[in-house]
Amino acid sequence: MKNIIFIAPPAAGKGTISARVCTEYNIPHISTGDLLRNEIANGSKIGLEIKDAMAKGEFVSDEVITKLLKKRLSSKDSKKGFILDGYPRNIMQAKTYDNILKELNYEDGLVVFLDIDKNLAMKRALSRVVCSKCGLSYNLINKEYAPIKEGICDNCKSPLKTRSDDNEESFINRFDTYMKETYPLIEFYEKKGNLLKIKVDDMTVDEIFDEIKKVIK
Ligand SMILES: [Zn+2]
Repeated sequence: MKNIIFIAPPAAGKGTISARVCTEYNIPHISTGDLLRNEIANGSKIGLEIKDAMAKGEFVSDEVITKLLKKRLSSKDSKKGFILDGYPRNIMQAKTYDNILKELNYEDGLVVFLDIDKNLAMKRALSRVVCSKCGLSYNLINKEYAPIKEGICDNCKSPLKTRSDDNEESFINRFDTYMKETYPLIEFYEKKGNLLKIKVDDMTVDEIFDEIKKVIK
């Protein structure tokens, strides 16, 4: 079974690597954000509650997220594996996730930490362009992360635009906050023994993917 979580600071290349893993193993990419949005779109009772909470600027309760996640992870296409995105964000959620896996009789799976040098991440982030339609992001300084055709999204052929909300200071802030909040999770999985740490700085996408492949085989 290939159930994988990525822990990755901004600009570490999580989107590219996780898309690669999904394609290779034909497993779904499950994002808690999407689960919430789908539930709202379905107009279900929980969906209405979520919409209400979001409109009030409140957090969606852990109970609701747990319920949706459990339902999604027990569906047929998740049985041979999945990539979980946006969850867990803290130790409490990590413990809840452990319980869900146990209940479903799933393995502990793999937690991949894409470790990246802060300055390198900043350089990447500041040369980042984003698709105006599907949100996929590209990077102009690294050929591997650049779009095939300049200014056009590989995925949906829409025009790309620069991400205007990143400057050096806001990026450093975002990076530091992420690392500070996520550090306990890294320790948690290190102790548990299913953490794979990859220092991605000088690595190509192929090399990173090979590291992951070796472990999940
Ligand atoms: Zn696109």
